[in-house]
Amino acid sequence: MKWTDDAAAAIGKVPFFVRKRVRARVEAHAGQKGHDTVTIDDVQEVKQGYLENMEQEVKGYRVETCFGPQGCPNRAGPDTDLASRIEALMGKKDLFRFLKQSVDGPLKLHHEFSVTLADCPNACSRPQIRDIGIIGAAVPEITDAACSMCGACVDACREGAVRLNESRQMPEIDRLKCLDCGQCADVCPTGTIRIARRACKVLLGGKLGRHPRLAEPLPGCYDADEVLDIVDRCVDFYKQYSTGGKRFAQLCAESGDALMAALADLIRQNEKGC
Ligand code: SF4
Ligand code: SF4
Ligand code: SF4
Repeated sequence: MKWTDDAAAAIGKVPFFVRKRVRARVEAHAGQKGHDTVTIDDVQEVKQGYLENMEQEVKGYRVETCFGPQGCPNRAGPDTDLASRIEALMGKKDLFRFLKQSVDGPLKLHHEFSVTLADCPNACSRPQIRDIGIIGAAVPEITDAACSMCGACVDACREGAVRLNESRQMPEIDRLKCLDCGQCADVCPTGTIRIARRACKVLLGGKLGRHPRLAEPLPGCYDADEVLDIVDRCVDFYKQYSTGGKRFAQLCAESGDALMAALADLIRQNEKGC
């Protein structure tokens, strides 16, 4: 379907991770009216309907992803169907009913428990401001394969974490600077740097609003089953302790030690880092 310039400009202001969904809804709305071109009126009518019926949009939780699953070349995390598995898990948590009992007044989208996946450290889907943020990690390691000293890994690393040791004729990676994007291994022609593990980093307790808070990372990296276990326990913790619509981020700030205790056995398994 075609879009007028002002309608396209309006949809361009919608946050990218929901833009596709909103765009489809506006096109369906225009189609129902018999239009083959979306106008600004269509956009505004959908927006107005959304504001008037916001509670109907609320399902109690949100699981979002970046564009990684659609083929982004920067993808670093494990190639699993993690988003669908989290969606299935969240669907069993009865969060809508929990929120209806916990929140005074009509529910709004910001009441929903949000989980966001970003498939690499670029973090396009903004995991730092969600209840649970998951970031794909490709952890590099140096093998015994001879290095040609071509420098491609140094050029690829945006963190300045790779240097070439002239006397050893081998690369070195500063783990404190490395963000586990895997780009150095991707460009290495000799296999001297390779990906040792694809996993996920997990951040807990981010939010925007009147009292914004950046989510804090758990130590280490986690495989898909462990991530599901973390999400499961965090939602249970939230349902156990949140009253009056208190956000998970507030709980993390106020009861972080109790939450860490609930996750302790998982975190200990990852003590050595990624
Ligand atoms: S977070 Fe990484 S993998 Fe996902 S869309 Fe952004 S650059 Fe691509
Ligand atoms: S994984 Fe990424 S951040 Fe780490 S050393 Fe390689 S290129 Fe640099
Ligand atoms: S580690 Fe690989 S990419 Fe880096 S200099 Fe050696 S051969 Fe080139």
